[in-house]
Amino acid sequence: MAEGRQANGSPLETSSPREASSRDLPVVCEGGQRQAFCGLAGIVWLHRKLQDTFFLVVGSRTCAHMLQSAAGVMIFAAPRFATAILEERDLAGLADANAELDRVVTRLLERRPDIATLFLVGTCPSEVIKLDLHKAAERLNQAFQAQAQVDATQPNQPIPPQGLPGTTGVSPAGRPRVLAYSGSGLETTFTQGEDTCLEALVPDLPAPPAGESSLLVVGTLADVVEDQFSRLFAELGIGPVRFFPPRSARALPPVGPGTRLLLAQPFLGRAARALEARGAELLTAPFPIGIEGTRGWFASAAQAWGLAADRVEAVLAKPAARAGQALARYREQLAGKRIAFFPDSQLEALIARFLQQECDMEILVAGVPYFDRRLMAGEIDLLSRALPGHPAGSFGVVEGGDVDRQLDTVRAARPDLTVCGLGLANPLEAEGLTTKWSIELVFSPIQGFEQAADLAELFARPLTRRARLRF
Ligand code: SF4
Repeated sequence: MAEGRQANGSPLETSSPREASSRDLPVVCEGGQRQAFCGLAGIVWLHRKLQDTFFLVVGSRTCAHMLQSAAGVMIFAAPRFATAILEERDLAGLADANAELDRVVTRLLERRPDIATLFLVGTCPSEVIKLDLHKAAERLNQAFQAQAQVDATQPNQPIPPQGLPGTTGVSPAGRPRVLAYSGSGLETTFTQGEDTCLEALVPDLPAPPAGESSLLVVGTLADVVEDQFSRLFAELGIGPVRFFPPRSARALPPVGPGTRLLLAQPFLGRAARALEARGAELLTAPFPIGIEGTRGWFASAAQAWGLAADRVEAVLAKPAARAGQALARYREQLAGKRIAFFPDSQLEALIARFLQQECDMEILVAGVPYFDRRLMAGEIDLLSRALPGHPAGSFGVVEGGDVDRQLDTVRAARPDLTVCGLGLANPLEAEGLTTKWSIELVFSPIQGFEQAADLAELFARPLTRRARLRF
């Protein structure tokens, strides 16, 4: 942990990540109307990470439009997600909807033999809820398995797989895995789609070699961040280290007793529980946001590997110092500026901690969709520590939230910057407030030492833009 002193000269309160749960953080729980993306949004970053997967959303035109707007800024060489839209005739009876789904999946896999894993993604319409996508995935897997067996024994005599109407009988190269999860707005909020997706993959993870101790980093990270983390783990002597999700669905990491889990994202409660049910142990750690979060994150893994604190500091000191230098110019620009977060991406509390403690911003409020105390135990340790100019508990975390009340608060306080979803940003900009889209925080590489300055820049940029517009 970082050494430091409070304003009165006494040492900062620090504790090891494993003691974190002994601390507490007051969180205000608010009920009311919310405005956030549903879990379908996760497809936009998951399809970029898992290179040989395809996401077939089974939903309505609303779902298709939502995905298009969430992914509107992206250009594809070959699209890896689509929406199977339920039409009027599909609503007539369930049997038809199942047969239609089988036909669509089979045709898709024939045209795209590069797909190793196909996700059927559930949505809100009642017709989709009635259509059991987990059973549909099972049925399709069995049919593809039967087809693969036929192909293996009678390579020159293609036989149409039973139960898959409309197929030519040519099976895709290899046997694709079909899985189902929910991205429905009734069950998931924004980033939780990643949680349900990873949870669906867990049963397919292989078992590790007997007696192996390994580290599994859980949560989608940009490849560049993954490479930086791999290098630092190697320097520390921690390994083998694997990442989940991996870059290819054909190379799923093993999990079992002896696997330690280090979460890279704070919204993976279901995936973490599924991995723990396979025998893995969840490490208590802050999240790798900002210099201190990243330092604490590596320190937790190092502690689990029994590494001496001075050795850990020797490895982390250089990248931490580099990050501090890069951050300095943005700290100058951000210091003293007031910021408010609407609940959206679930990253709000961690980023607010970084902006307050490392960039000297004033946090008016950090709204989060939900506050998972178990996953946040290590983060609470950082959030609740006292620093010069920032006494412990100096900003409020609000769970849930009532969008109308929050809009009133923001309009009255008029912060320098408001972090919110796409739907709120334009009206607030029209009222003269400066905003930042929360979705950018999920798409951008923001974790780790090297990204700390980039993260600060994401908040400095709208302030610069606003200042330019004033002239
Ligand atoms: S909230 Fe439901 S209906 Fe709307 S886009 Fe998301 S899954 Fe589709």
